[in-house]
Amino acid sequence: MNDCIFCKIIAGEIPSAKIYEDEHTYSFLDISPNNIGHSLVLPKKHVENIHDITEEDLEHVIRTVKKMSDAIKKGVDADGINIVMNNGKYAGQVIFHSHTHVIPRFKEDGFHHWQGKYKYQDGEMRDLAEKIKAKL
Ligand code: ZN
Repeated sequence: MNDCIFCKIIAGEIPSAKIYEDEHTYSFLDISPNNIGHSLVLPKKHVENIHDITEEDLEHVIRTVKKMSDAIKKGVDADGINIVMNNGKYAGQVIFHSHTHVIPRFKEDGFHHWQGKYKYQDGEMRDLAEKIKAKL
């Protein structure tokens, strides 16, 4: 935890373009933005990802994501907002302190939706839904 860059940003040991902070969350401009205004929302408590954050801390995060989404949309006159949380190395997570990206989108920004890549076989969806349901 001591060498976590996001913990250091929250503690003020590393400077950031902070936009919002409350008791539980911290938000600032991403230094490598996909679009102007791209920001991150962090829980102040160091947790790695969606699997180890508490429901209570996640509620605080999503409330701040809502605040930031509204403010960023107005602040950069965005046409839309993407909310993205990468969980795990193979999902593109690079900093292992849970964070949610709030990314403003613009009509002509050139980004596209992810391609539909997987095709279910007959009956597979029903079986899979049951398999996942058993893990709830
Ligand atoms: Zn951390």
